[in-house]
Amino acid sequence: MSRLSASEVRGALEREQEEFARLHPISKRLFEEGQRHYLYGAPSHWFRRWAGKFPVFAREASRAQLQCVDGHRYVDFCLGDTGAMCGHAPSAVTRAVSEQMDRGATLMLPTEHASWVGDELTRRFGLPYWGFTTSASDANRAAIRIARMITGREKVLVFSGCYHGSVEEAHVALDASGRMVMRNGIHGNAVDHERVSAVVEFNDIEALEAKLACEDIACVLTEPFMTNYGMVAPEPGFHQALREATRRHGTLLLMDETHTFSSGPGGYTALAGLEPDMLVLGKAVGGGIPVGLYGVSDEVARRMWEKVPKVDPTKVRQSAHLGFGGTLAGSALQVASVRAVLGEVLTSAAFGHMVGLAEDLATRLRSVVGKFDLPWYVEQLGARVEIMFAPTAPKNAAEVSAGRNGDLEALLHVYFLNRGVLITPFHCMLLMCPASTAADADKYVSVFEDFCGFLAANCLEREMRA
Ligand code: PMP
Repeated sequence: MSRLSASEVRGALEREQEEFARLHPISKRLFEEGQRHYLYGAPSHWFRRWAGKFPVFAREASRAQLQCVDGHRYVDFCLGDTGAMCGHAPSAVTRAVSEQMDRGATLMLPTEHASWVGDELTRRFGLPYWGFTTSASDANRAAIRIARMITGREKVLVFSGCYHGSVEEAHVALDASGRMVMRNGIHGNAVDHERVSAVVEFNDIEALEAKLACEDIACVLTEPFMTNYGMVAPEPGFHQALREATRRHGTLLLMDETHTFSSGPGGYTALAGLEPDMLVLGKAVGGGIPVGLYGVSDEVARRMWEKVPKVDPTKVRQSAHLGFGGTLAGSALQVASVRAVLGEVLTSAAFGHMVGLAEDLATRLRSVVGKFDLPWYVEQLGARVEIMFAPTAPKNAAEVSAGRNGDLEALLHVYFLNRGVLITPFHCMLLMCPASTAADADKYVSVFEDFCGFLAANCLEREMRA
């Protein structure tokens, strides 16, 4: 067997992409038509990130299955990049949302579900006060506004490789020389990021300490376990050091649990006993209805009301508001859907099933990697699993970048698509939902084993080691 060059990896990718085009003529045509009116050929730019050169257009999805307009069926481990972690069309949410639609979706009034939802959010995630938004991005922006309001500081510190949605301050990363740059070629947008942002590598306590010591950082915005640049675990002691340093320097700690809610019923925060000042949820918590949530501690709420006094509504009808929160935020529809998600779908029992499935899947993937002697690492946290093209767990974005092989990653994606498996299109992450089954996991393992066999037969794995 001769060793394949990088161009041969590309050749294999192109052959899979041709096969993908052959299998999906209707999706291909719809994407071509989409160029007429959509900036990215489809309603969202994310939809064009799929490695097949155009996205599969969906006909319908239910539970952990999806069917495309060309009639192919897929086992879905992408689950709308976490937005569908409840599974597609979860009956409890469909019922609750349909009933609420019949009674009025958005009323500029609270409904009786609000009390239960507030109690449950606090029971699960620990923070006593909550606000609704219409996306996780929006919830992060709201939390940042609160952090600035009460600290009087402008800067937000993030970790390189992070993603927190459409959050201006978080569009930064470190380049190879350790300089702050715009992430992924995002436009700087005339914002002075040197003024509003700071960025260090995840798990780098020393660099974090140095930035916090300037005492100009309003909040650290972080996922507790990185999931957006490949999964990166916090090292032992990282969270304790982060909490201790932020407290010491008067910086608030904002934990973005939009993805890591997949760790368990109370997210990673409850799992690891973290004590953030603020916490953000989104995506899955709405069961398909756009919902973002931010929770704040007693102390944050108290300091906030010092800045924007909460006046007695019996005496003053119009008071200042916090400067965020849309007309549709906290709508009857949102609250009904969150009630159904927390009460009936993403329950402790459901997490037990999802996490068990993910643990089992990760163990089986590790044994396939071992069988083919591939220099790959399998990460798993709660209901989420990822295959990383590096021999050991990376501890930050720079280490993920060093192991990244874009063409091989794309090849894996299209190979899986052509064999009826969807995974999140950005890296190699997969997610379980309550409706995911052992048979779904079997399917994934079987296609993965075929993929590794295909690489071995073509010596592509040596390319990986080069
Ligand atoms: N936070 C995290 C951790 C995310 O992964 C994402 C989206 N991938 C967001 C926030 C933003 O979510 P949305 O696009 O729904 O606003």
